[in-house]
Amino acid sequence: MKITAAVLRELNKPLSVEELNLSDPKSNEVLVKIDAFGICHSDYHVVTGLAKQELPVVLGHEGAGTVLEIGDGVTDVEVGQNVLLNWFPYCKQCPQCLVGNTNHCKTYMEMLGQGKMLDGTTRLTDSNNKPILQLSGLACWSTHVVVPDIVCTKMPEETPPEIAALIGCAVTTGVGAVLNQASVHEGSSVVVYGAGGVGLSIIMGCVFAGAEKIIAVDRSEAKETMARSMGATHFIKAGKDMLGNVKELTDGLGADYAFDAVGNIDVAEMLLPSLRERGLALLVGVPPTDSKIRVDATDVFRQEKRLTGTIYGSADTGADFERFARMYLSGLLPIDKLISKHYKIDEINQACEEMLNGSIARGVVIF
Ligand SMILES: [Zn+2]
Ligand SMILES: [Zn+2]
Repeated sequence: MKITAAVLRELNKPLSVEELNLSDPKSNEVLVKIDAFGICHSDYHVVTGLAKQELPVVLGHEGAGTVLEIGDGVTDVEVGQNVLLNWFPYCKQCPQCLVGNTNHCKTYMEMLGQGKMLDGTTRLTDSNNKPILQLSGLACWSTHVVVPDIVCTKMPEETPPEIAALIGCAVTTGVGAVLNQASVHEGSSVVVYGAGGVGLSIIMGCVFAGAEKIIAVDRSEAKETMARSMGATHFIKAGKDMLGNVKELTDGLGADYAFDAVGNIDVAEMLLPSLRERGLALLVGVPPTDSKIRVDATDVFRQEKRLTGTIYGSADTGADFERFARMYLSGLLPIDKLISKHYKIDEINQACEEMLNGSIARGVVIF
């Protein structure tokens, strides 16, 4: 069938919105009509080359839609069902899955991480019949996708597609970081560097966890209103004195928890100095491949501060996607507040631009 999708043909160039050919689902694959997708910074890391990916590729790893057709052997998904597309499916059988570390399952990552289906091919070709890769095996910056059935996660029926899409990346990454990895405690103090989709999700998770002081830091002043509306109690404009400002706001001690939602080495190196003794720092944003972080040994030894990371919110996506959807539906997670703007698919370059200049929280394309 003919579809419309946003293709990255050259690094650091605008995406081209093109008509492509999408072939039928093979065994254990599913054709999904995309209802909504989010614009995530990680997609943009592919545009700049910070995240390595062969080109040309259709971007998009934060999407939700409706199942139109299923291939042979598909049993868990039905035509007409609303599904969230999971960019990190797991196998339930490998050593990591068996001990519950499902976000470290490697079974499907080799192929999906290259932008291919599990048989090593792609379902997309362009008008010259040249193959086009599918980012994370999803490629949901598109009107339709064919994906492996294991990425399709059934959502509670009343979940709006744009909410499901955001649970597919930003929300699970941010809220999962707070609840699954940091276990932020009631009455604690938190500093969150970066108030984009993931940073705002961290703030949302900290409010749910009962943190008392939530300090958001961002270089864009436009983020102050968004951060405060999610529940941040303080806002610092990123700049020279931000470390001093964090200390000032935390009785000179530093925070109990510090999150890097940017994925920037300079920010990562500020995490431990932002903490009080025994505080916990988490890398949540994707750091550049092969980068190194300098750590003051005194912070770790004498002050017993801890530094770790979290991939996909350390989530068990099989349980957490539905948990976060239900928390939204019952009013515990105001995920809708993350969405500042709706776009059409042919406005994708404008959507990226507005994400980069910090004027929006999450931009969502809806169909
Ligand atoms: Zn993402
Ligand atoms: Zn596994």
